[in-house]
Amino acid sequence: MAKVYETVIGLEVHVELSTKTKIFCGCSTAFGGKPNTQVCPVCSGMPGTLPVLNEAVLDGAISLGLATHSEIAEEVLFDRKNYFYPDNPQNYQISQLYHPICRNGYVEIAPEGQEGAADSKQVRIHDIHMEEDAGKLFHEEDGLTSLVDYNRSGVPLLEIVSEPDLAGAEEVKAYLEALRTIIRYLGISDCKLQEGSMRADVNLSIRPVGQSKLGTRTEMKNLNSFRAITHAIEAETLRQKEILESGGEVIMETRRWDEEKGTSFSMRSKEDTKDYRYFPEPDLPPIKVSKERIDRLEQELPEMRPEKIERFVKEYGLPMKDVLNLTKEREFAQLFEDAARLCKNPKKVSNWLLTDTLRLMRERGVDADELRFSPAHLADLVKLTTEGKINSTVASAVFEKLFEEDVDPVAYVKDRGLETVTDDKKLRESVLRILSENPGAATDYKAGKQKAIGFLVGQTMKAEGGKADPNLVRKLLAECLKENA
Ligand code: ADP
Ligand code: MG
Ligand code: ZN
Repeated sequence: MAKVYETVIGLEVHVELSTKTKIFCGCSTAFGGKPNTQVCPVCSGMPGTLPVLNEAVLDGAISLGLATHSEIAEEVLFDRKNYFYPDNPQNYQISQLYHPICRNGYVEIAPEGQEGAADSKQVRIHDIHMEEDAGKLFHEEDGLTSLVDYNRSGVPLLEIVSEPDLAGAEEVKAYLEALRTIIRYLGISDCKLQEGSMRADVNLSIRPVGQSKLGTRTEMKNLNSFRAITHAIEAETLRQKEILESGGEVIMETRRWDEEKGTSFSMRSKEDTKDYRYFPEPDLPPIKVSKERIDRLEQELPEMRPEKIERFVKEYGLPMKDVLNLTKEREFAQLFEDAARLCKNPKKVSNWLLTDTLRLMRERGVDADELRFSPAHLADLVKLTTEGKINSTVASAVFEKLFEEDVDPVAYVKDRGLETVTDDKKLRESVLRILSENPGAATDYKAGKQKAIGFLVGQTMKAEGGKADPNLVRKLLAECLKENA
């Protein structure tokens, strides 16, 4: 009988920190500069130079450690990982093998839409360590020439190594999203898979259900979207199963995923730690991590998502589903709170954010950290609607302007005369005119066709340039129709 297998996955995630300068020199980390314009003797590996640790990198690493319930090392020590490749001008990478800054943490994951639920699972973090990024190679099409850009050389990275606790693509996605949420809440990286500021290597093995010993794993690289990660996991699980079922053995190797072809290729046999001849970095003196420093960073931790979810439900009385969507991004949650406080109408603010805002963000490819409108203006718009000064059609149009240019809604409505027409007398005239122009609809209504009034409301609204209060129009219409019944 065929065996039933289970998939076992551990992730190595690299995150580029958004510090102003590199990890061991003062060069800018800005993305997209002309090749080799953000380099100096340190990050281009000139002999005789000495690295100096950027303290903001250490703070970022400790903050992430605290947010993932990790133990923080008492001393910062680095190691040299030696390898020869043109993207690496020093011929070694400064990293942390023996004494990573954080150990033994965990991240809680839950299925999509059930964040904060009781049945969440803990994914253990083996360690988090600091290291420097390498340069970027460009291989010319002639097959003979390669160019190198060292702007990325020395950009700070945190590597987050999980234990093999993940059972498949869905859990991997939940884990990466949970990790990204934590890191974005901390504000230490923007974690964009597509842009490479978050990169995940998938270590995967399979074993017969019931067996406790882990199978031989492969490591998959070049995964730059959630879709690629899912495909790669499915394909690799199947590949290993076919090997085992045909009596073969999985080889421990590094494989490269090709999303276009939907398959992976062997890159190299898996290197061993000893292949890298790791040794303690002699150019960076050990730094003590003081208790004061950890305490300060702990104090400075922002409110994280699980606590925010709990508080929003309690404080604003909103449904869990809405709160989950409001708190995905810290900026978004902040916008909600600021606007809700100003207009004292959390429900209305939440509606604007979860419907019109999310729709416009989707349509125009805008991220939460790129939103331009101020909470005060959103609050003003909510007030205009609750005070009945504008109707919902006008409000949607004003909101779009707010989204695009952060217009002041009060001034905008006033300048363009968009206030709702509430003058009963003027509206009544309008209504009577519409009734005389549409005798058919009036007769239909009187004959019991309730729906005909909708048409008459529409006609009156049109005559008023969309600015009348539709409820008032409906009321007046009903009155007039009764009067001449
Ligand atoms: P290396 O030092 O060779 O990189 P590690 O022990 O550091 O190996 O593990 C690297 C990653 O691989 C970790 O995320 C770990 O959870 C995962 N891993 C290790 N063994 C297995 C296995 N048998 N199956 C799946 N994942 C594994
Ligand atoms: Mg490793
Ligand atoms: Zn430099």
